[in-house]
Amino acid sequence: MFELVFLGTSASAPSVQRGLSAAMVLHREYRFLIDCGEGTQRQILRSGLGFKRLERILLTHGHLDHILGLGGLASTFGRWEAIEEMAIWGGAGALGRVRELMRVVFGAGEANIRIAYRTVTPGVLQDDELFRLRAFPVEHRRTEAFGYSFEEKPRRPFLPERAEALGVPAGPIRRELVNGRAVTLADGRSIRPDEVLGEETRGLRLVFIGDAGRVDNLVAEAAGADLLAIEATYTEEERDVAAAFGHLTASQAAWLAREAGVGHLVLHHISRRYNSKQILDEAAAVFPGTSVARDFDLFRLVKGKPLERVDVRERAEGDAVTR
Ligand SMILES: [Zn+2]
Ligand SMILES: [Zn+2]
Repeated sequence: MFELVFLGTSASAPSVQRGLSAAMVLHREYRFLIDCGEGTQRQILRSGLGFKRLERILLTHGHLDHILGLGGLASTFGRWEAIEEMAIWGGAGALGRVRELMRVVFGAGEANIRIAYRTVTPGVLQDDELFRLRAFPVEHRRTEAFGYSFEEKPRRPFLPERAEALGVPAGPIRRELVNGRAVTLADGRSIRPDEVLGEETRGLRLVFIGDAGRVDNLVAEAAGADLLAIEATYTEEERDVAAAFGHLTASQAAWLAREAGVGHLVLHHISRRYNSKQILDEAAAVFPGTSVARDFDLFRLVKGKPLERVDVRERAEGDAVTR
């Protein structure tokens, strides 16, 4: 399962309804903050998600509307929160800008929190038995911009009735088989994983893209994603403005979703000049499975279920999201 929470969905400057770019991806024990526009720490508090385990921050690129909140967030973490290290992942240019920002915020002295700067290059950033995080390049003005692909690995389900029939006892020995390793039972028989595992099923995939100047080069990365989130700053009425500033129109974003055959499209980074309906109408004409994100929207992606959309502020404490 993946949960994607939008904390800020406005482009360039905030509006009454929309804060500056920030989103959070939750998966098992992981939490990733993606971008951190000005005002993000208050949005995190209002969302009820809190700062716990928010050690990983991924930057799509280094423009100010995506990074200015990092100074305040680092200051709060250093002063009040029991977070010792904050890892900021981004392209070399974006990280350079964040370092400058931190220097201004904290002066010559160090921040009260260790900040680990991790330079992103295309490829795998994090990998465990069940999950993989990958970065891929995105074209956006002169920045070195990245999109992120959150992937559950394909799995073969464990078939307890088969294990039972073969006399494989419950406990760690079953875990070995699930992890693809053959085992030897107490009576000397050897059991192969194949004997207790079903057909491989593919995992869910969530692709998050921030600002982008073109989409034709993103089809392969978005292909088959269960959920694609991408900017839609303008509508076709201002296609030339979009092109001049390295941004997309709603219909370009929807074109990508259709070409890539994604399950659902969620648009964010909306210019204050437009309301959600204008963006949605244009995109849905090209790709019907489209939503326009609002601040505090939580999209929940669960295998075999339709995408769910709820207001993150209405979630009860102790719910999956606050784990
Ligand atoms: Zn932006
Ligand atoms: Zn930008």
